[in-house]
Amino acid sequence: SKRVLIIGAGGVGQVVAHKCAMNSHIFGEITLASRTKSKCDAIARQIEQMHGRTIRTAALDADDVSQTVKLINEVQPDLVMNIALPYQDLPIMDACLETGVDYMDTANYEPKDTAKFEYSWQWNYAERFEQKGIMALLGSGFDPGVTNVFTAYGAKHYFDQLTQLDIIDVNGGDHGKPFATNFNPEINIREVTAPCRHYENGSVVETPAMTMSREFTCPENVGRYTIYRMYHEELESLTRHYPQLQKAQFWMSFSDNYLKHLEVLQNVGMTRIDEVDFNGQKIVPLQFLKAVLPEPSSLGPDTKGKTCIGTVLKGLKDGKEREVYIYNLCDHQDAYREVRSQAISYTTGVPAMIGAKMMLEKHWHKPGVWNMEQFDPDPFMDELMVHGLPWKVRE
Ligand code: NDP
Repeated sequence: SKRVLIIGAGGVGQVVAHKCAMNSHIFGEITLASRTKSKCDAIARQIEQMHGRTIRTAALDADDVSQTVKLINEVQPDLVMNIALPYQDLPIMDACLETGVDYMDTANYEPKDTAKFEYSWQWNYAERFEQKGIMALLGSGFDPGVTNVFTAYGAKHYFDQLTQLDIIDVNGGDHGKPFATNFNPEINIREVTAPCRHYENGSVVETPAMTMSREFTCPENVGRYTIYRMYHEELESLTRHYPQLQKAQFWMSFSDNYLKHLEVLQNVGMTRIDEVDFNGQKIVPLQFLKAVLPEPSSLGPDTKGKTCIGTVLKGLKDGKEREVYIYNLCDHQDAYREVRSQAISYTTGVPAMIGAKMMLEKHWHKPGVWNMEQFDPDPFMDELMVHGLPWKVRE
């Protein structure tokens, strides 16, 4: 069995640690490291109580490459799982290069001072990773992650050619708070306030944030929701790897209440990501906002309802047009019972564990930097069925 170093002990890191601990035949030794070590220790205690397993913990500021290198040398992991924030992607990749250890994450790099989501920075590491003989798996969460694998699975089994992709992310859950975000508020708000980009006829089309919406009825009585078109990072890799796609869009559901709060916060300047002077100190309004909003991990006990995330694929099979919807439903309360987290963290953490399993068991393994859709989707799809995220296909 193998040894992993998990970096990041937030909402998603907690699920990853639980899920790895629950699969001891693969994850023989687990170290959980993060900036605030007490969060790692609290998760370790929970895992001890719930699954009877001891994991190791460590303090780490992963912005500092030398600290990560030192910890990697101590732990000697087979794989580093980056479940911290997108800002840490490049420094952790640097540490992996220096120590010759495989890398994975759940979100693409973005610089702290501009909300700019792009794979280019990480794709630029491909040659160096290849030369070092190590592998990086990018975006092994749900979206990106499972949505990429759903696309690859559809392309493999249902189509000769894909022509349109619509990724639809509905959270039919209610946390009972006037305003909160389901994952890191800073990352979440940067994402939803950024201009929308989608792909059409080979080019990127930009439109103002949240200006295009439609109604979507989820399967299995999950309900009808308003979904808004926005930019999401998997569109970049999927249009690169499926260049026949004539159109690719990403949609997410938001309640009127969420949008009302967001509009006010934006109007008063609280979502700014540049520094402002406050009583002789420099603060970034969005970081201050994060400090006063509920911790996403605290929403677990009270969040009810289901998430419904899936991929609508259109294309040609044997000369005929075809449409297929591949989706998963995940219940917030079920997730909480299993790993003490709501479904947003659960749907991200489970695929991170499965991505790690794919790498450690060498189902997916080759030197370089790769996106999820570049590997055979079948073994990953099988694991989703077993580890809590069963999926269905509807024609
Ligand atoms: P949280 O804010 O809850 O947790 C982030 C964790 O990273 C915290 O433990 C934090 O430490 C730690 N951290 C931050 N900076 C550093 C650093 N410099 N060194 C070490 N640790 C650090 O975020 P989430 O758990 O919600 O999200 C984790 C990741 O998952 C993010 O990258 C997010 O974008 C991604 N994600 C991906 C999704 C997908 O479907 N693909 C969906 C949802 C999230 P501290 O406690 O000290 O702040």
